Amino acid sequence: IQQMANSKFEYVRKFETEDRCLPNCWIIVRVDGKAFHKFSDLHKFVKPNDDRSLNLMTKAAETILQEFDDIVLAYGQSDEYSFVFKKNTKTYNRRQSKLMTNISSLFAASYVFYWADFFPDTKLQYPPSFDARVVLYPSDQNLRDYLSWRQVDCHINNQYNTCFWNLVQVSALSPAEAHGRLKGTLASDKNELLFSEFNINYNNLPELYKKGTVVIKEQEVTSVQREIPKTDGSGTEEKTFTKKRPKLVALNVDIIRDTFWKDHPYILE
Ligand code: ATP
Ligand code: ATP
Ligand code: MG
Ligand code: MG
Ligand code: MG
Ligand code: MG
Repeated sequence: IQQMANSKFEYVRKFETEDRCLPNCWIIVRVDGKAFHKFSDLHKFVKPNDDRSLNLMTKAAETILQEFDDIVLAYGQSDEYSFVFKKNTKTYNRRQSKLMTNISSLFAASYVFYWADFFPDTKLQYPPSFDARVVLYPSDQNLRDYLSWRQVDCHINNQYNTCFWNLVQVSALSPAEAHGRLKGTLASDKNELLFSEFNINYNNLPELYKKGTVVIKEQEVTSVQREIPKTDGSGTEEKTFTKKRPKLVALNVDIIRDTFWKDHPYILE
């Protein structure tokens, strides 16, 4: 029987636009916290790097990787995380709006859900939100260059912020004075400033701050012994079965050079 579904109102559905991602491209979804400059001030984040928020961001990212089988890698720093779907994913029929909105809402929900585990002494003041965008990359090199771009951004911001906050917190400069002091300085000038004025060797700062976090799925192989009946019906024999299942691993390592990709070749497969 033709149901009521074919009502005279049904035509409005045709106004929806097609937003399927181009086939055979890496799909990246990047989420970024809305106004986290304000959010981090209000919740008294340690400056320049609050470990609690960085670890909570990674926890939220792990929730996403558990939910979406076709995400092969995530990279995060500051208030952002990028998720990489394998080239041939069929998730949500590759519909951009579905991918983007499901990831950003699950990310925000997880950030709130796990908040108290990471900030036991800080009450959440309002519901944070995360924007999202989708970017498609047709070649493996484009994908690697995208991830390199984000990791270089992490390093550049960390270097600037480490100088800025030392000038403010240790040298008691005003924010405007600290900005003025750093204007036009090169990377080498900033390392020199950290060393000569604050006795900080940039290279010795935690990898978490300098490199951000990459989360991957490693194949965990476990073997189990089981007694099974023999084929000739004469009792049982012990056999070894191997089980493979993805295990999330969070690393604070260089993802620009080849080493990472050579060590984990299955990511680009
Ligand atoms: P927008 O809504 O445009 O993204 P925003 O204020 O979030 O605005 P971003 O460029 O995303 O701007 O920068 C995020 C800011 O959040 C950083 O500059 C920093 O001040 C703060 N922040 C994020 N994570 C941390 C952290 N773990 N520790 C300290 N500060 C952080
Ligand atoms: P999808 O992810 O595709 O949206 P879905 O399970 O959310 O899957 P919907 O078509 O959105 O499917 O339907 C939502 C379902 O959630 C309803 O069919 C109903 O079973 C349940 N539901 C939602 N709100 C209520 C509510 N207020 N009371 C009882 N059931 C509800
Ligand atoms: Mg921004
Ligand atoms: Mg932001
Ligand atoms: Mg940001
Ligand atoms: Mg629904």
